[in-house]
Amino acid sequence: MNSLAHANPVGSLLASETINATKMTLWLIENKLAMKRSQGIGSIENTNKRIVIRIDTDAGISGYGEAAPWPVFSGTTENTWNTLSNYFWPLLKGQNVFDIPKTIKRLKQTVVGNSEARAAIEMALYDIVGKASGLPIYQLLGGKVRDSIPFSFSLANPDLEADLRLAKSMYEEGSRIFKIKTGFVPDHRDDVKRVAKIRSTLPDDVDLRIDYNQGLQAFGAVAKLKEMEQFGLTFIEQPLKATDLEGMAELTRRIDTPILADESVFDPYAAMTGVQKRIGDAFSIKIMKSGGFVDAQKIAAIAEIANIPCYGGTLFEGAIALNAGAHLIAATENISLGCEFYMPKYVFSPEELEAEVNIVNGTVIPPSGAGLGLAIDEDVLGRTAVNTMSL
Ligand SMILES: [Mg+2]
Repeated sequence: MNSLAHANPVGSLLASETINATKMTLWLIENKLAMKRSQGIGSIENTNKRIVIRIDTDAGISGYGEAAPWPVFSGTTENTWNTLSNYFWPLLKGQNVFDIPKTIKRLKQTVVGNSEARAAIEMALYDIVGKASGLPIYQLLGGKVRDSIPFSFSLANPDLEADLRLAKSMYEEGSRIFKIKTGFVPDHRDDVKRVAKIRSTLPDDVDLRIDYNQGLQAFGAVAKLKEMEQFGLTFIEQPLKATDLEGMAELTRRIDTPILADESVFDPYAAMTGVQKRIGDAFSIKIMKSGGFVDAQKIAAIAEIANIPCYGGTLFEGAIALNAGAHLIAATENISLGCEFYMPKYVFSPEELEAEVNIVNGTVIPPSGAGLGLAIDEDVLGRTAVNTMSL
């Protein structure tokens, strides 16, 4: 061994490369929502449920994770809770938290699907490894390629006037990207009127996108989307059913405005198929769909090779999952179309935030502290939880 290796031992920041998971705590959170949210596959109103976990270790370091399934999109919190507590924790207990790839492989081999539960575990493990090594997660994911991420807010309130008031005040705070949820009203003409009203009300430098959430019938879709093109949209998201890959490919060929695939692309396998069939000009990446950072980066890489840029989507996630998403995008060049990390700041109640997403002048800033870089207010978790469990 040469003397340089002695002078700069790799891993010198770490006291040990073995830290074992000793305990998991789960909170089933139910947040009050400031407004109804309507989308092509369903609406949510009044409250939203999600799960926060904390994994403790024998080194005294704890990590947080979050799972935010949406019943009409991917699954239920009850199912995720059961998977985390009855299937995943028994596999993880006593294991070395540094062995993330090995752990994730075992989770995949034990329960099919349940990407949100896997995402929560992977997030907590990265939080612990980051804290143990003194590095933010974006460094563990390859290093930072951007300091801030363009921020998009989704206009999904069936009360259009309320949405416009909010959009105008957000514009004053620096927001320039808005995504209009379409396809939740039965008549296409109502969608056109709504988008026209938003386009004419907001200043010209606003970047508008629309998202059907699978709400458009394939029959007549080309004509309807061509009509939407008059509004100068940056992209049109998931017009057709998630499984209608041929239909998505047809729209991608025939519509000039870029088509973005969201529900059709959950994991790297779907991304590969999506590239082969060219089901979109862009893909939406969500940690909740991919089951964590590693598979999200695989999707981004597959898309990048096919010249398909990606967007940072969200389910109804809180600040732990969204800051995890910010670390991912900070370290992943091809997620270049911005992010919609708005729920905690604009839809949850201010007194119900266990942590915040840092939105400054129309951008999301990833935390720079070790791990997730977040201080979690467990009093808030206790107050907003409808169920708690320690294992
Ligand atoms: Mg979407």
